[in-house]
Amino acid sequence: MSVQQLVELMRPYWGDRSVVASYVGGEFIEGHGASVEVRNAHDASPLLSFPDADAGLVGLLDQAARQARAQWWALTAQARGQIVYRVGALVREQAEQLAQIESISASKPIRDARVEVAKVAEMFEYYAGWADKLHGEVIPVPTSHLNYVTHEPLGTVLQITPWNAPIFTAGWQIAPAITAGNAVILKPSELTVPSSLALAVLIERAGAPKGLVNVVAGYGHSIGQEIIARADIRKVVFVGSPPTGRHVAVAAAQRCIPAVLELGGKSANIVFADADLEVALRGAQAAIFSGAGQSCVSGSRLLVQASIYDKFTAALAEAAKQFKVGDPADPQTQLGPINNARQFVHVQNMLEGAIKEGARVLGGDTEPVPGKGGYYVNPTVLAGANHLHCAQEEIFGPVVVAIAFEDEDEAIRIANDSRFGLAGAIWTRDVGRAHRVARQVRAGTFWINGYKTIHVSSPFGGYGDSGYGRSSGIEALREYSEVKSVWVETAAKPAASFGYGASLE
Ligand code: NAD
Repeated sequence: MSVQQLVELMRPYWGDRSVVASYVGGEFIEGHGASVEVRNAHDASPLLSFPDADAGLVGLLDQAARQARAQWWALTAQARGQIVYRVGALVREQAEQLAQIESISASKPIRDARVEVAKVAEMFEYYAGWADKLHGEVIPVPTSHLNYVTHEPLGTVLQITPWNAPIFTAGWQIAPAITAGNAVILKPSELTVPSSLALAVLIERAGAPKGLVNVVAGYGHSIGQEIIARADIRKVVFVGSPPTGRHVAVAAAQRCIPAVLELGGKSANIVFADADLEVALRGAQAAIFSGAGQSCVSGSRLLVQASIYDKFTAALAEAAKQFKVGDPADPQTQLGPINNARQFVHVQNMLEGAIKEGARVLGGDTEPVPGKGGYYVNPTVLAGANHLHCAQEEIFGPVVVAIAFEDEDEAIRIANDSRFGLAGAIWTRDVGRAHRVARQVRAGTFWINGYKTIHVSSPFGGYGDSGYGRSSGIEALREYSEVKSVWVETAAKPAASFGYGASLE
């Protein structure tokens, strides 16, 4: 895949441009900072090179977002809903184009990119229906007042997203934010900017004011940090790694700006001996190997009941060898490369470290896929124990650590012996056990006899080091709203009150 192909695919969105730039108030603005170098993960060849956004962009972002949100909020709720719905329709119309952009710019298998783009359309369609249903409430207060509660937009929100599912994550956050009436500054990973730019242009073409959704092309530690420190933002929604998330939340807290953190995971996928093992085996593969393990909800700790451990893990190791690993552009490819060199080195170091600390490779191959030259890692099954570093830290690659357990209590104990709490799953035919375990595992999402199903209508988020706050569902609308309580005196002769209702007389 060449730079030229990507530039051509972006033409309907950025016209004659050939260099990535920020999109602010409906204009592309090139930076002059340090160079951002992006490589094609398939063969490590250069893909994109562009300058980091300038610090001066903050003023332009503030101005563009402020104007846009005033125009946006002046529309009727119905009109806003229709525009949000039209974004979904445009995404569907241009789905193949967007999927090709995503596949090239994020080195993601085209089949995965197509699925993720279709989900983006669903996100806008889902939230469009909420636009004119964000009702307030009337509270039956014990005084002579009418007390009503309204939900107002926050203002401008900053969203910071990672490289593993760029357009999916952008849609996941932008759709509820604008539906709730806010303007958005989106800072995608510097490694995967193009699909976010295309989405912002489509949002404007659907009828949203210029500047309602702005995209910043640049590094987190420079322009990202600058926006948090200086921009007129009312919330930071961060999706990314736990260390960066902590840093971002501290910087926001210094300005009293609240944050939502969607961070990493080390999710336990628990297989009991009484499960439908064929289905559980497919589920265990999907849990860790889809997206080459570069998914926050990956089932990266596989807990298998001791009586079936050897048989089940051997079957998984055998299945791992059958995956078609290769060029993201090939529609048959099931596992693409690791997105970037830094992450590739991290996965390799984690694998080496795992073997040194005593984990055993059961199948797959820890050698790079021969002849590719890119950032490929074969799907790998490690036999290990929960105290090992490889079972406690996020690898974010196609590497699963299989851990044996004896009974239900031990499975729950191991599942919860992690600082993360993003997701988890159980495979069993015992309904009672399924619900008991679901109740006791500390995780924001839990599947019974399934893995990795998420939908924009259902809340998503983490416990512990996986973060706080929720995305998607009605919960996301609440995250993107301010709550106001209004007191209206209705008594003909109101008692002059002092403080909390105490009389002045
Ligand atoms: P990362 O933390 O390195 O970067 C995420 C974003 O933060 C990028 O846009 C980056 O430019 C920006 N950033 C970096 N330093 C910054 C700073 N000082 N100030 C402001 N912004 C800064 O994460 P990554 O490597 O891009 O993504 C992988 C991580 O994302 C994994 O840990 C994965 O689990 C997590 N993730 C979580 C979810 C979820 O919903 N929970 C979803 C996808 C990915």
